[in-house]
Amino acid sequence: MAVDIPVVLVFGGHDPSGGAGIQADIQTLSALGCHPVAVITAITAQDTSEIKGYTTVKPSDILAQAKAVLDDMSVAVCKTGMLVNGETVDAVAQAVAHLKDVPLIVDPVLASNTGQKLATSHLERSLQEVLLPQAAMVTPNLPEVRRLAPQAATPDACAQTILGWGCRHVLLTGTHDDTDGVVHRFYDRNGVCKTSTWRRLPGEYHGSGCTLAAAIAAYVAHGVSMGDAVDAALAYTWNSLKNGFRPGSGQSLPDRLYAQRPQLPPKFGTESNTCTTRGSGTRS
Ligand code: PLP
Repeated sequence: MAVDIPVVLVFGGHDPSGGAGIQADIQTLSALGCHPVAVITAITAQDTSEIKGYTTVKPSDILAQAKAVLDDMSVAVCKTGMLVNGETVDAVAQAVAHLKDVPLIVDPVLASNTGQKLATSHLERSLQEVLLPQAAMVTPNLPEVRRLAPQAATPDACAQTILGWGCRHVLLTGTHDDTDGVVHRFYDRNGVCKTSTWRRLPGEYHGSGCTLAAAIAAYVAHGVSMGDAVDAALAYTWNSLKNGFRPGSGQSLPDRLYAQRPQLPPKFGTESNTCTTRGSGTRS
């Protein structure tokens, strides 16, 4: 029987260090049994310490990438990451305009966790007016939620403001707090607010927010309810971070393939790899 591999469409930036952005999406979605189809919105130059620069992809090229896959495949979920500016937001909104029933997960990328800007100052307004009213979920951290809803006095009030714009769920992540545990708050439009507390892991990580939003997209694509998808995605992300590794000299990266790491054969030339002849037959 054919295996059900839901297709998830992601819009985001390319990070050549492999920590965040599209590569984080692709690894997460693949690890969680989905087929990622990826539209690049920006090309960044960055390593595990800092963003050195980025360029945006033209709206017409964003639309062309999206049209190519959407003309060919049905997608179960759409997810957005680094969008940079209002023109990109408009292009993404136009690309998914006919997918009204497909849940849209928005990771509102405004800056890196080292504080470097990844968006123009007008991005918040475009997200507020164009994407968030049609989103099934938005996953801001504390600095992001304050920038998205600056009028609101508390993080709870920020989340309520965003729900008021039409977004159906908010997951406010607590990694930027200075509490011992990391407290994430999940809100829906029926007044539910559920908290989930995780042991804070030591060290600094690059790409955790992208991993979390992509994992939510993956579980929703498998038909899991939003509340259960959040719980499962938080567990997956925490385990990816706990198994994290440090390939460069800066932040650690989540190991999103921690559950799939291959058992490698012994290295070539070691004793156990020498050829032995088996069987009793003789060759003439
Ligand atoms: N680069 C890209 C392309 C991203 O999409 C993001 C976050 O979504 C970042 C960098 C920043 O990642 P972090 O906040 O984990 O440093």
